[in-house]
Amino acid sequence: MRMILLGIQGCGKGTQADLLEKEFGWKHVNVGDLFRRHSENNTLLGQKARNYMEKGELVPDKLVFEVVLQELHNAKKGFILDGFPRNLEQMKFLLEKFTIDHVFLLDLDKNVAVKRISSRRHCQDCKLVYNLISRKPKKDGICDACGGKLVQRDDDVEEAVARRIEKFYQETGKVIDHFREQGNLIIINADDTLASIYSKIREYLS
Ligand code: AMP
Repeated sequence: MRMILLGIQGCGKGTQADLLEKEFGWKHVNVGDLFRRHSENNTLLGQKARNYMEKGELVPDKLVFEVVLQELHNAKKGFILDGFPRNLEQMKFLLEKFTIDHVFLLDLDKNVAVKRISSRRHCQDCKLVYNLISRKPKKDGICDACGGKLVQRDDDVEEAVARRIEKFYQETGKVIDHFREQGNLIIINADDTLASIYSKIREYLS
């Protein structure tokens, strides 16, 4: 299985990809997470990517291809792409190397997305993602799973969020149009519960 999840920041792609990975064993490839890991480990790639990420800009394609390619070749059972491709060049790169079985768009209104992002938190230790409105921790500021501290992502601040959303419409919009024109885009309303979105994805897969 080779699948792409497209959607505006905060639409819940990552959560759905996690659920699919858990149930089916397809590798969840989250490009933003790969870069964050490189940045935390202060690798050369992480140092180069950090500047772009902090401002909400796209990291140059050359660096993106470097992190993505190895992950995809290692994903023997298949993959779920989250946060890639984000522009037409990345899409071409991907389609030249792999055939893709399904492309989903988790469709969410921009205002709802901004609200979700501003209430997004994650555990600084185990990285589990929470939302202060829809997926609250049992204890304020503390991770249910490991007791770690919940923090906000550096780029979930207003200015960077606005830039990321602008890039989504400008760049990823063209990727969405391409798959839509080819008749290959499955659109799912993402202003819904996690369980309902997941069951709709599963329905399409079966
Ligand atoms: P995300 O966690 O998906 O919101 O990604 C966080 C940041 O990582 C983005 O704002 C970009 O700076 C960078 N990034 C993630 N995926 C890509 C991609 N496919 N192309 C370029 N930059 C990316």
